Amino acid sequence: MKGIRVRLEQDLKAAAARLRRMDGNVALEEIPGVIGDNSPFADEVDTIQLNEHREIGFATRELLVDRVHRLKTALERLREGQYGTCVECGETIAPARLRVMPEVETCVRCQDRLERYGRQLQTVEAAFGVEDED
Ligand SMILES: [Zn+2]
Repeated sequence: MKGIRVRLEQDLKAAAARLRRMDGNVALEEIPGVIGDNSPFADEVDTIQLNEHREIGFATRELLVDRVHRLKTALERLREGQYGTCVECGETIAPARLRVMPEVETCVRCQDRLERYGRQLQTVEAAFGVEDED
């Protein structure tokens, strides 16, 4: 389990660096023609492209923030000696699973159960959420 800390720290550093670059608005400068083009048609096209680009950027950013958060939690759990133990059932998480996703907090069985529970909730909400009043 010794290489895990290095792996987690590297992943955390890489994700944080990407996030910083995004926050620095470098993405805007990467689009050709946005700066220094005065033709109105070009502006219109650029605005559309820019908006699309931004939406993709926001989605990616959310994923990155999420990942940074999970990696930090994993490092904390490693310090506390909790790492590699499922937060749901307390069983040991399979090393193969940790190699693929070092930031996971649950074993395969609990992950599966949680996902199914989430889907059930959605189904219940869909069935009962529509007709509450009247
Ligand atoms: Zn579990």
